[in-house]
Amino acid sequence: MDCVFCKIVAGEIPGAKVYETDEVLAFLDINPVHPGHTLVIPKKHYANIEEAPAEVLSQVISAVKKVGLALKIGLNYQGYNVTENNDPAAGQLIAHLHFHVIPRFEGDGLKLWPQRQYSAGELEATAEKLKKVL
Ligand code: 5GP
Ligand code: ZN
Repeated sequence: MDCVFCKIVAGEIPGAKVYETDEVLAFLDINPVHPGHTLVIPKKHYANIEEAPAEVLSQVISAVKKVGLALKIGLNYQGYNVTENNDPAAGQLIAHLHFHVIPRFEGDGLKLWPQRQYSAGELEATAEKLKKVL
């Protein structure tokens, strides 16, 4: 499979690995939002969250937690965003599940996405549709 993250796992291309277990790898994003921006992945290839078993997701999130704390105590950041672009429509460019751990500090100027308001009845109708399939 022609997957850049699988190649980093296999050591076929370089990656600044900062943490790993048998199941999980964390390495620096090559184009960081801020220095220390880290990607946390399962070593096994899953395209997205739905493909990955809950046990694997649990291991990945445990590593995300470790990396987040390391950004604070090792690089003196004040917080971090955890994001996962799930599917191309959501901006996923690399089709190997990965969580971004993006370090943040007060006044760094980054903005999250804009939000809108529901029209009358839209919130309730949306919740009903979701509840039916959950
Ligand atoms: P996505 O949009 O799929 O959530 O994000 C993919 C991320 O992977 C981007 O932030 C990009 O900078 C990073 N990336 C792409 N290619 C490489 C690479 O070869 N090495 C590393 N370390 N990061 C990469
Ligand atoms: Zn892969």
